Amino acid sequence: MSARILVVDDVIPNVKILEAKLSVEYYDVITAYNGPDALVLAKDKSPDLILLDVMMPQMDGFEVCRRLKADPDTAHIPVVMVTALSEVTDRVQGLEAGADDFLTKPVDDVALFARVKSLLRLKMMMDEFRLREETSLDLGVIQPNKDQVEGQVRGRILALDDNNFSCQQLSNIFSEGYELVIESDLDEALVLARGGDFDLAVVSLASNSYDPLRFCSRIRTFEETRQLPILTLVDEADTGKLVKGMELGINDYVMRPIDKNELIVRTRTQVLRKQYQDRLRHNYHRSMELAVTDGLTGLYNRRYMTNHLATLQQKWEGGEKPISLLIMDIDFFKKVNDTHGHDVGDVVLKEFSARISKSVRGIDLACRYGGEEFVVLMPDTDLAVAMGVAERLRRDVAENVFEIPKEGLSLEITCSIGVAMLHGGEDVDSLIKRADEALYQAKRDGRNRVVSAS
Ligand code: GH3
Ligand code: MG
Ligand code: MG
Repeated sequence: MSARILVVDDVIPNVKILEAKLSVEYYDVITAYNGPDALVLAKDKSPDLILLDVMMPQMDGFEVCRRLKADPDTAHIPVVMVTALSEVTDRVQGLEAGADDFLTKPVDDVALFARVKSLLRLKMMMDEFRLREETSLDLGVIQPNKDQVEGQVRGRILALDDNNFSCQQLSNIFSEGYELVIESDLDEALVLARGGDFDLAVVSLASNSYDPLRFCSRIRTFEETRQLPILTLVDEADTGKLVKGMELGINDYVMRPIDKNELIVRTRTQVLRKQYQDRLRHNYHRSMELAVTDGLTGLYNRRYMTNHLATLQQKWEGGEKPISLLIMDIDFFKKVNDTHGHDVGDVVLKEFSARISKSVRGIDLACRYGGEEFVVLMPDTDLAVAMGVAERLRRDVAENVFEIPKEGLSLEITCSIGVAMLHGGEDVDSLIKRADEALYQAKRDGRNRVVSAS
């Protein structure tokens, strides 16, 4: 599916030129000739990118941009301001209005497609994350974000620069709202970047002591820093390096002599975007975690365990390493609830789970299978070893009382355990069924014991 781009300009030929250029590259182009129409189209047609003229009668581009960014339906659409003016103050005003980037008329093809492609790539990724966040919010596994205070940016910046004057300038510019770490050595900077939890790297392209492009490409190769935005400081003489850097994934740049306001707003844009991205990713992982774990005990849930077991079993087919499983059930648990209340029952379940987690290996998978039933999946484990694990668990439960500090109770708890090892050609259901039968044998035999499946 090709991306949809909304082109907005009050001068018809300007619209036609951009439309022609973009259509040749197979973008789906829609057009508007004034601000109010652009706002309606942006809402109705959900474009992936907006190229927005600054000077328009009625409502100028800055105002259109402000309104787009203020509307939750359109705030996520990247906006590129297309301006005849290359005045720094105009660019700053545009960035203040929330624009994501700039193009100067007459629009240069290389710059046009570089900006369009990089913004579209970013948007696609962000769209995917937003979708997942919506699902997580719908499911109630994460809470809507409340702590983001508008306009208040706090971020950590790593600067790579070996010029004293320039370093001093950066210290002054970032003295408010940011934590700035300046490093003049490339390798040191890479180490810092990988461990430092930064929101932005600022890299000076004018250096004799290090190769700034090597830094940029290294940043993109490490998992920990792949998402770290890079903003470069560029001298007129270094524009060649800049073009190369754009290919390597530089996110933005500021020309020297540095305009303080421009650097501040461009920094803010990158930092906000990084923090937004981090939040979405964090929420995504959190909801994944919640989807596969049990709320009370923190162990994996039954659905995850059965899926995992099926995967193990498929991989195992024809293999040599045994897989064993145990099912444990607390004895007379109903009596705990009936005598001391459901809350005390919950504490016992948590403590019981903690003991299981403590005594199994990292590659074993402990899960809450049902109310007071638990399963431990043990790859690379034969029946004899699994019986040993089960016996150790049983003894730990039976011999150490369960303390309920809030009620001042010490409860004696026991459990029964069924153990089974996967047979060749056996499916997952059959394995669980055999372990379950062994468990019921243990119950019939008088509880507080381990029985192995036939
Ligand atoms: P047996 O020795 O045969 O296993 O007897 P039992 O009482 O342990 O077994 P039964 O299946 O009769 O009762 C299990 C009880 O576990 C009933 C149910 O209310 C309770 N239960 C299930 N889930 C929870 C929970 O999340 N919290 C609490 N407190 N109790 C639970
Ligand atoms: Mg029970
Ligand atoms: Mg039960």
